[in-house]
Amino acid sequence: MSLSVPAAAGATVLVTRPGPRVAETVHGLAAQGVHPVVRPDALTPDDVLAQLHDLAGRGLLTVDPEADPDAADLVVRDPHGRPADAPAPSGAPARTGRVILVGGGPGDPGLLTTAGLAAVEAADVVVCDRLAPLSVLSRARPDAEIVHVGKIPRGAFTPQEAIDALLVDRAAQGLDVVRLKGGDGFVFGRGGEEWNACVAAGIPVTVVPGVTSAVSAPALAGIPVTHRSLTQGFVVVSGHVGPHDPRSDVDWGALARCGLTLVVLMGQATLGEIADELVAHGLDPDTPAAVVAEGSLPGQRTVRAPVTAIADAARDAGIGPPAVTVVGRVVDALEDPA
Ligand code: SAH
Repeated sequence: MSLSVPAAAGATVLVTRPGPRVAETVHGLAAQGVHPVVRPDALTPDDVLAQLHDLAGRGLLTVDPEADPDAADLVVRDPHGRPADAPAPSGAPARTGRVILVGGGPGDPGLLTTAGLAAVEAADVVVCDRLAPLSVLSRARPDAEIVHVGKIPRGAFTPQEAIDALLVDRAAQGLDVVRLKGGDGFVFGRGGEEWNACVAAGIPVTVVPGVTSAVSAPALAGIPVTHRSLTQGFVVVSGHVGPHDPRSDVDWGALARCGLTLVVLMGQATLGEIADELVAHGLDPDTPAAVVAEGSLPGQRTVRAPVTAIADAARDAGIGPPAVTVVGRVVDALEDPA
């Protein structure tokens, strides 16, 4: 039996109660130009879930255990699936957990996306970093497990491999895991490694992008990273290892000459060395620079100085991490508000 739906191509179709021949159903829908959302539930067998994730990986459907029938144009029961009154399979109901990589923004909970907040509220487990917007943990379920794996600079930290293993372990137990981190998880957030670890373990993983500090901390200090007539782009670079460190593979000379705004993350300890290197490679020593610390948080502070003086100015002002440094004419682009 092939499923024929009275829906135009492009309609949102929700398929419930997926059964062992769900691929047949989905291919039938695809032939009609429909990309369905399939909603597995607690009684969906593991082999059917595996099929769903395989089909999802091939772009034929979206798997969403939380899919809202009210939001779909059409809700259909998989014709090969479990009948409404079928007894539950014996034994514990099969349930596959999943991992959602949520970018939390720079720290102010107001800068977490609504999708990120919804994920935190629904999670069984929240694994969070110290730069994540920790106040939103009050919105997690009271019974949710909260695991802090914060990496304190030069202090105690949980190795990335242990974090990856934790995410996979909890999801394999059937739990929905949110990995909550600062900014955007794919901007110096090691989100890609966590993604790959989940995929390697067969764990469904999705991402909710976040507001990166690379753009938002400057913005909150009144610095646009691009500005018409001043610069046609910006570069975000890690200052974690300085220009003379053998581990550095950044071409600082190219950055000095590129004419783009430079945004340096994790650069507090290496700022003087970076500024010297940029100027040695031809950057105008009078180029304005700013350090924005604790962007969006109550302790937000900004220090401005020409690039040659910015490291000393930040140190004299007692500015420490987390801070973003901006180098470029955009630092002075905005008028002071009235
Ligand atoms: N994924 C994060 C960056 C992680 S690397 C993002 O997209 O924002 C950590 C660095 O981010 C810090 O060393 C600092 O340079 C920057 N950072 C994070 N939060 C910050 C904040 N609230 N204000 C200023 N800089 C911040």
